[in-house]
Amino acid sequence: MDNTASKPKGSDLKRFVRYYKPHIGLFLTDMACALFISAVDIVYPLISRHVLYDYLQADSPRFAPFFMLMALCFLMYVLRTGATFIVTYLGHSLGVSIEADMRRDAFSHLQKLGFSFYDKSRTGKLLSRCTNDLFDVTELAHHGPEDVFISVVTFIGAFIAMLFIEWRLALVLVISVPIMMGFVMKLRKQMSLTSRKVKEGTAIINADIESSISGARVAKAFTNEDYEIEKFEKGNGIFIKYKRAYYKTMGLFHAGMEFFTSIMNVLVLTASGLLMMQKKMDFTTLVVFLLYVSSFTTPIRKLAQFSEQYTMGMAGFKRFTELLDTEPDIADKEGAAELTNVKGNIEFDHISFSYDEANGHNLTGDKVLHDLSLSIKAGETVALVGPSGGGKTTICHLLPRFYEIQEGRITIDDHDIRDVTLASLRRNIGIVQQDVFLFAASVKDNIRYGKIDATDEEIVRAAIAAEIHDDIMKMPNGYDTIVGERGIMLSGGQKQRVSIARIFLKNPPILILDEATSALDSATEARITAAFERLSRGRTTLVIAHRLSTVRNADKIAVIDEHGIVEMGSHDELLKIDGEYKKLHDAQNSFYLIK
Ligand code: ADP
Ligand code: MG
Repeated sequence: MDNTASKPKGSDLKRFVRYYKPHIGLFLTDMACALFISAVDIVYPLISRHVLYDYLQADSPRFAPFFMLMALCFLMYVLRTGATFIVTYLGHSLGVSIEADMRRDAFSHLQKLGFSFYDKSRTGKLLSRCTNDLFDVTELAHHGPEDVFISVVTFIGAFIAMLFIEWRLALVLVISVPIMMGFVMKLRKQMSLTSRKVKEGTAIINADIESSISGARVAKAFTNEDYEIEKFEKGNGIFIKYKRAYYKTMGLFHAGMEFFTSIMNVLVLTASGLLMMQKKMDFTTLVVFLLYVSSFTTPIRKLAQFSEQYTMGMAGFKRFTELLDTEPDIADKEGAAELTNVKGNIEFDHISFSYDEANGHNLTGDKVLHDLSLSIKAGETVALVGPSGGGKTTICHLLPRFYEIQEGRITIDDHDIRDVTLASLRRNIGIVQQDVFLFAASVKDNIRYGKIDATDEEIVRAAIAAEIHDDIMKMPNGYDTIVGERGIMLSGGQKQRVSIARIFLKNPPILILDEATSALDSATEARITAAFERLSRGRTTLVIAHRLSTVRNADKIAVIDEHGIVEMGSHDELLKIDGEYKKLHDAQNSFYLIK
């Protein structure tokens, strides 16, 4: 995979140029056509001059060579048209290919980033980095080199031709160039700053829209639509402010450029008048020279345009490189081994963990887990119970290394989980959580997510084991029914069983069930419990449950609160201790009795 993140980084410009490498053929064709276009632009006034002086003004006009030369000009412009087409078409294709390459790099990098990155980032802003931010890059990637190239060549060519025709006029023009350049440089900095702000504003709007759309149902339930609009208006206002600042600079820039180019014409005419009054220049020279003034100012206009594109494109590119430079906080260590033939002995050995530290902040509050030890033998089912916020889910996220522990170690069959590859570690662990995410795809593909290369028979077998097969057969298109976003909606219990089917397919030796049935009613839970029992047979299972009735058969039950593991034993043992577990147990029993 071509990912620039792994290569030496270098300046933004260097990294940008690197993206041309795979498309070098396209790029060179584009540039060759661009060169032809500038050549035609430079040569045409020279030909006109030749024609005016030698064929038409001479005492005996020579018609044959005149018309031949005109035919040649016609042909030249036909070819120039072809070149313009190629530059526009291939050039833009090149830009789009480069944009697509960058987007692929951004996307694959996002796949590598871990839980703590997604904890910190807003979806809409990330979306913006992969879309809007890169739009201007296409224009820059295509027009950038070509504009600079055409402009510089035409500019120098036109200048030389002008020197040759009437050097005094050429000097008059050239004096104004440094003044103009100074002006461009001054405004470019300001434009680059404002353009970055505009991108930031767009990202804020995207994030606001994304969060409002995801929360639309909540907003309606609380009739808070007006509040949502107000919140949105704030972001929209920021966007307007940034964009106005940008347009202000742009206005100054365009007005300034117009001034310089128009004033050049006035200067040339004034100087010509002077020269002609002194009889140092004739009228034909003026006509030809004026043809060059436009081939002199067009490149300047183009360069100015380029400077605008450059600031916009580079602002997007900078945001893109920032994303690529966010290192994944959890990655395979050098020479990490594959975790294979897992029996399922799990050891949490004096571990400590805090989200603040995992997110790179200073430790503000207490650690979520402090010096916690827990050992689970292969094939055992261990239940974690206790008040919410105690850290049960956190423990489950540490085993597959979604977050990195700060102290102690976690081992599977005596392998420290930091010594094995992430892929092999996670392949051996199956997780069913309370919220199930279904992709906008068919039920079949959603189940297939457990094992991408599963056959249709395997999928049906998994669905039968998860007791979801009958429900699927009743859906309008059976296994091909689209579910998830904009597809048909599944009930909580059905979603849960789809996720169980995924795990049946994945068939991992270690299983984590984190409040998988907590959101379901008792009747549905009873149905699913059968599926769970089948699932956990022969696997090391870590189960977190809200209702103690579902964990009473576990080999070991650990009661966890903010102080860590406070009690551990089987259901009967814990009842005998008459401690926290007994309290939870009695509270739930009385709760269900009253109900
Ligand atoms: P439980 O599953 O036992 O209810 P959790 O493990 O979800 O508890 O949470 C333990 C503590 O960690 C809570 O105080 C919670 O606020 C905090 N916490 C959970 N997830 C995160 C996160 N992603 N970032 C920061 N803090 C978190
Ligand atoms: Mg939890």
